[in-house]
Amino acid sequence: WSKETIAVVTGGNRGIGFEICRQLADHGVTVILTSRDTGVGVESVKVLQEGGFAEVACHQLDILDSESVNQFAEWLKENYGGLDILVNNAGVNFNQGSDLTVENARKVIETNYYGTKRMVEAMIPLMKPSAAGARIVSVSSRVGRMNGKRHRIENDELREKLSDDESLSEEMIDEFLSTFLQQVEDGSWKSHGWPQTFTDYAVSKLAVNVYTRYMARKLSEREEGQKIYINCYCPGWVKTALTGYSGSVTVEEGADTGVWLSLLPEQAITGKFFAERREIHF
Ligand code: NDP
Repeated sequence: WSKETIAVVTGGNRGIGFEICRQLADHGVTVILTSRDTGVGVESVKVLQEGGFAEVACHQLDILDSESVNQFAEWLKENYGGLDILVNNAGVNFNQGSDLTVENARKVIETNYYGTKRMVEAMIPLMKPSAAGARIVSVSSRVGRMNGKRHRIENDELREKLSDDESLSEEMIDEFLSTFLQQVEDGSWKSHGWPQTFTDYAVSKLAVNVYTRYMARKLSEREEGQKIYINCYCPGWVKTALTGYSGSVTVEEGADTGVWLSLLPEQAITGKFFAERREIHF
């Protein structure tokens, strides 16, 4: 990896995203730190530059806003010719337990799943060909595991459907999310086997995990030299604004597996879920 390697990080202005930017810059790659607030992004880049990392730039990017994503894509193409690494870090969580509102559920799913998907779709055409393969890494969560102990989906039929790689489709993920939102809206969600805590957040991250598997299969059809590897990971329970700084691990630890996955040497690992640099079945 060198400064010719271009890495884009969403939500790079704070928390795990900022630390991913710092660690990637420390490995000598060029980092595009994106932030939905331009001023905040400029300040964050300044901190990195003052810390000795010259190859860092920033750009406005709100993953909920198609116009913002398109403008960013154009700027990236014009100024850097594309990218090698995309880290989908931007995300939200409003719940601290079993509380759930329709408004928040929509926002969580729109941001964590549809925002991530929007970025994947916008960046794939800009990913540079390379022998090592381009990389997409999404910061997801263990609460989005299909068979997790505490956040398991109790609906066997749905679990089976989402586990079947052969029939998995984007429409199926859309359908599962709209069914969930419909049940949140009509108040029936509690009796339909969804995780009972961090519910909307868990569902949004489950969608990210399943989409990662789906996209890995789709991208595997690309020719040698044009390969793109896509994986996701759980950073642990990290001390950031998202957890009210109540996490048990530092941002340095939380960023580590994401940076490791972004920079893996030539290895065709794709469509997997990781934590602490180990693959976990989800
Ligand atoms: P923070 O709240 O500190 O950071 C979240 C980042 O996402 C901020 O930069 C925020 O920008 C950005 N963001 C939110 N919405 C958008 C949007 N629409 N467009 C662009 N950027 C957006 O949280 P963390 O650092 O903890 O979270 C980072 C990722 O890690 C998230 O995906 C989260 O779900 C995941 N994660 C975190 C865990 C933890 O324990 N902290 C555990 C498991 C997963 P702004 O500053 O403008 O709000």
